[in-house]
Amino acid sequence: MLKCNICNNSFETLKSNTHIIPRCLIVETKENGKNVYISPRKLHERNQTDLVLDNGWCEFCEKLFSEDDAFAKLFIKDKKYIIGQRTSKIKNEIELGIEEHEATCGPPLKRFLVGIILRHSIFLMIKESLDLLGPHFEALRELYFTSKTSDASYPLSIIKYTDLRLMGYPTREKYQGLNAVSGIFGSYKMILFVNKQHLCPKEFEQLLITSKQVRILVTTSNDSNMKKEIIKRITDLKGKEE
Ligand SMILES: [Zn+2]
Repeated sequence: MLKCNICNNSFETLKSNTHIIPRCLIVETKENGKNVYISPRKLHERNQTDLVLDNGWCEFCEKLFSEDDAFAKLFIKDKKYIIGQRTSKIKNEIELGIEEHEATCGPPLKRFLVGIILRHSIFLMIKESLDLLGPHFEALRELYFTSKTSDASYPLSIIKYTDLRLMGYPTREKYQGLNAVSGIFGSYKMILFVNKQHLCPKEFEQLLITSKQVRILVTTSNDSNMKKEIIKRITDLKGKEE
């Protein structure tokens, strides 16, 4: 018997050839952008191949992931839930926008991201013997199955970079000393604050995704170190390959 890493139940067989990130989102970035995989050790550019895994989880959990993926397609690709956009200037200089989505998207967004983080964590564990989540794996596994996803535990924030089209597999990050795990899906960078205290930095407090509001900061990546970092790492990698 094999044990499912998500629901912990035992089965004769587990699913094979399962995707970490939904196929429909990967196809979109393959055509229009870059598909990158930032692992704790290095950054891989994957324009041709997706990350797939055998025997990670059972068919029932795969069915739950398919529901998440269907929702993510509507949210990210079809932009079905946007209810408004506005911009505001901070210190009369930097123009920031807010994209607002229907509040009902809060819980499924969190379930989608938690599911992707769990999938990638299992992939890293099996394929590279890397531990992405440490003691938080078990807590996130439980959170995934909580029907009413708690707003308070593991706060979620999303930033939209209008000039990015990437696929970034979940990786660890630090924001002002607080541990987080983030993934990039098209233009959206989704950040789950994964730390013992369940805290997020001050500037994210007004921009948390909850069951009551889905407000996303819209900006360009020019000011952020992320784009520079990604471009630098892709360039470094290309240099090594040649
Ligand atoms: Zn399962």
